[in-house]
Amino acid sequence: MKNNRIIAYDALSRVLLQGAYSNLALDQALRREGLPREQSAFVTALFYGVLELGPRLDYQMNAYLKKPAASLDPEIRIILQMGFYQLLYMDSVPDRAAVDESVRLAGYARKSSARGLVNGVLRSFLRDGRRERLPDPASPEYPEVRYACPGWIFSQWTAQYGPETAARLAEASLGRPPLSVRVNTLKTTSEALARSLGARGIAVRPHAWLRDCLLLEGTGSIDGLPEYREGLFHVQDVSSQLSGLALGALPGEKVVDLCAAPGSKSFVAAQTMEGRGRILSCDLHPRKAGLIAKGAERLGIGCLEALCRDGREYDPALGGADRVLCDAPCSGLGILRRKPEIKYRPPREALPALQRALLENAARYVKPGGRLVYSTCTTNRAENEEVARLLLSQNFRPFPLQSLGIFSKIDPMGLCDGVGVTLFPHQMEGDAFYISAFVRV
Ligand code: SAM
Repeated sequence: MKNNRIIAYDALSRVLLQGAYSNLALDQALRREGLPREQSAFVTALFYGVLELGPRLDYQMNAYLKKPAASLDPEIRIILQMGFYQLLYMDSVPDRAAVDESVRLAGYARKSSARGLVNGVLRSFLRDGRRERLPDPASPEYPEVRYACPGWIFSQWTAQYGPETAARLAEASLGRPPLSVRVNTLKTTSEALARSLGARGIAVRPHAWLRDCLLLEGTGSIDGLPEYREGLFHVQDVSSQLSGLALGALPGEKVVDLCAAPGSKSFVAAQTMEGRGRILSCDLHPRKAGLIAKGAERLGIGCLEALCRDGREYDPALGGADRVLCDAPCSGLGILRRKPEIKYRPPREALPALQRALLENAARYVKPGGRLVYSTCTTNRAENEEVARLLLSQNFRPFPLQSLGIFSKIDPMGLCDGVGVTLFPHQMEGDAFYISAFVRV
């Protein structure tokens, strides 16, 4: 069996050097090695800790380097980040093991010439008393280091929501998110599922105000659970569930989900439709359309067709829909705690144009009197209300989300100029999210 730190290092390299998604890279690594629970908890903590706190860990090592961390060999930078993370945040790791294993990793990464550097930097840090440094709170670099948040993201939050909310968003972008699941009401009830998971020693807590949403702890690998394999639930963040519920799909209706993979909002629609009607769940990528079909099959949803479509191109077969969801690809600034790698990728300037094209096409599928929901998992107003607003110059009027019981329970940012709500993690348990709904007149 491979050494834990090598497994974490390999997975981190795949994300930081080869552009892999964090959840997939870690899942694959854990699955391949078939690690027992305790070891996989160690690898997971080290992997996400380093991904999440990269800039803060760089700041520590910069105090001992001649040139900044960014100019190191990328492999050595990752190894030092892992070393600092273990020394600062993993109480179970003896100092000596953190240093020696980091030196060994340099050899594994074929960077033996840097072993002395790794050893020297980590030992100097220990000699200095292993004290974490932070810049002066008044200095411009403070947010970037304190919250390990790239300057461009923090500046955008500050410009769009003010300094106080920016700090709260940055704070909420750290730490492991709660695991929330949506009960498949086509097959079971919340009570029955909670009992059955509880009997396995899993801590189950019903969400405070969102029906059929359970928060779980201590699950181990989800797809190993019989309840999962039997399709009694799917994993979905609270905010994402709200977006699916905002659609308000009823039994017998025709629903189009334009950017649907992996399908969680379509699955919520199938539940509110009590499994009757027609859901056309589209995604650009054939592999992703396959994922939707697989999920629907597991959940026993027979009214869903997974289609491979470019949501920007009109398909007459999707027309005349009662409900249309456009849950657009976005910058993901609302889900940094789930996908910390987003912080290290350059901003994608072209997103609003893609989102507009998708939304304009989505609008064409809605029948008069039908509802259109536009949502994203980002906080960026340029991708949210500034895109959604285009519907106001077409035949759409805003649908008041607060008229739905579930939205009256939360304290959202408020109506954004009459076009949607922005949900913030510090106001509810979910990810930061934008949801808007419109009715075709
Ligand atoms: N609604 C999904 C859910 O709740 O599970 C999440 C959707 S995710 C935010 C956006 C999806 O849009 C991705 O799966 C991506 O493959 C898809 N996508 C990107 N460009 C697209 C396009 N031009 N047409 C259709 N789907 C697209």
